[in-house]
Amino acid sequence: MPRKSVKILDGLDVNLRFLKEMGVEDIVRTPPPGRSSSAAAPRTSDPSKAVLPAELDDLHKEILACRKCALGQGRIQAVPGEGDPKAELMFVGEGPGRDEDEQGRPFVGRAGQLLTKIIAAMGFSRSQVFIANIVKCRPPENRVPHRGEVEACTPYLLRQIEIIRPRVIVTLGKTATDHFLPEATGSMTSIRGRFYDWNGIRIMPTFHPSYLIRNEGNKTPKKMVWDDMKLVMALLGGK
Ligand code: SF4
Repeated sequence: MPRKSVKILDGLDVNLRFLKEMGVEDIVRTPPPGRSSSAAAPRTSDPSKAVLPAELDDLHKEILACRKCALGQGRIQAVPGEGDPKAELMFVGEGPGRDEDEQGRPFVGRAGQLLTKIIAAMGFSRSQVFIANIVKCRPPENRVPHRGEVEACTPYLLRQIEIIRPRVIVTLGKTATDHFLPEATGSMTSIRGRFYDWNGIRIMPTFHPSYLIRNEGNKTPKKMVWDDMKLVMALLGGK
């Protein structure tokens, strides 16, 4: 078998094992009822090729040319985000990593592949949700973005949210959660597991997929993430 094929199958096996340990019993193949996004959005199975409304397209061009903070100096390319511009469900992470910086797409590395599987287990495809980050350019060595960098970049995220108007935002990890819920102090374990209101949008904080990978032997956070996603699915009219 060609080497590349083996690698893909290995990655698939790891992801499926992760899902099993999370408590995922099956992957939902039909979209949960009551979701309007896929019907209203331009159809494409490749989220990076979604036709964006002019306002979002202009915003993404602005991000691609942005040099407002130091992260703009070290990047290969900015990563605005991608998906359905009318998505009811949005995922927000911390910032691009090496793979994302190289490809210009969010969550495409190992953590991204796990997120893609979680999204699939929820009955969605990546083209039916919108995926973005707090900062749009890769912090060096994948460090946590500095406060000034977050302050410089988050107006872009806020404009994305204004245009997309999701019903639910899943914040992945502490950096994203802190931005939406600065008053929610404590560990992710204590914050996650329930919805918070943010300007009329429901926020569900949960662990970042890279945390699950770093703590591969610990099944508890995996189960917590899936419990959180089941609450999101229930809110959106699914299981
Ligand atoms: S991280 Fe955000 S604010 Fe900083 S250069 Fe990139 S797009 Fe601009």
